[in-house]
Amino acid sequence: MVVDTHRHRGLRQQLVKELKTKGIRDERILDAFMQIPRHFFLEKTFAEWAYKDVAFPIDADQTISQPFTVAMQTSLLNIKKGDKVLEIGTGSGFQASVLYYIGAKVYTIERQKKLFEKTEKFLHDLGFGNVRTLFGDGYEGAPRFAPFDKIIITAGAVEIPKKLIDQLKPNGLMVIPLGDESGVQKMLRITKNEDGSLTRENFGNYRFVPFLKGVNI
Ligand code: SAH
Repeated sequence: MVVDTHRHRGLRQQLVKELKTKGIRDERILDAFMQIPRHFFLEKTFAEWAYKDVAFPIDADQTISQPFTVAMQTSLLNIKKGDKVLEIGTGSGFQASVLYYIGAKVYTIERQKKLFEKTEKFLHDLGFGNVRTLFGDGYEGAPRFAPFDKIIITAGAVEIPKKLIDQLKPNGLMVIPLGDESGVQKMLRITKNEDGSLTRENFGNYRFVPFLKGVNI
């Protein structure tokens, strides 16, 4: 069993300091990084990497996003307590846990069956069973639970998925890394205005694993 020790807390404190110097100001987000044992989300042998500000491979050739990226995407969402949030790309479950910790009602979709099953069980065991995990293709969203206040995409998209925009409430926000085949994306925040038009803001370049179509069983 993996344990959380005094040393891990020390490493988390260092990471929080680093996130602050990189511009993360929201105390709730910093507190989530202080309290959530990120090393539980990595394979045991790689626990050393959990508190470095880098992306890291998890199962099924996927990655757990870099801590700064998680903090940045979370802060762009402007979470209010009780916001209904849809995440595309559950992966390790860490981003979903941060959103849940700061008071969002979280629905998260993963397209890789094995990863979905593993993370669903893991989040439950961790006490984050209220995070609603869904297996499916994120391009379809989660119509059964729509509309959402916020949608966050944690894989690199090459288009803005229309079905996801449709599942956003008026004045809702979507945070999406949008790029081309080169593998670099611009972090966009898209506001769905009352009249249905979209406003885009750009927050710089990032690199994500691709947002793929269909599921992988
Ligand atoms: N949010 C994750 C980071 C995940 S990496 C974390 O905190 O660990 C991106 C994830 O998106 C991968 O697990 C990948 O399998 C998933 N993904 C890619 N395309 C998808 C799609 N169409 N639907 C759902 N998940 C998708």
